[in-house]
Amino acid sequence: MTTYRKWYCTCSGKPVELDYETEVLTEDEVGEPICRRCGATNSSDPKKTVVYRDIEDWED
Ligand SMILES: [Zn+2]
Repeated sequence: MTTYRKWYCTCSGKPVELDYETEVLTEDEVGEPICRRCGATNSSDPKKTVVYRDIEDWED
């Protein structure tokens, strides 16, 4: 079983899943989910609109 975290932003009034940055990443740098609408991320969330859900994947 694998548990992974999905990030959402509620800036539009309903939770919208965040996109992961897809720029070239180094080994030390992990892409951070970012809201394409307001630019919030899980570590830069001035309006407190970013929420997450932990998803359990039982197929693993
Ligand atoms: Zn947003």
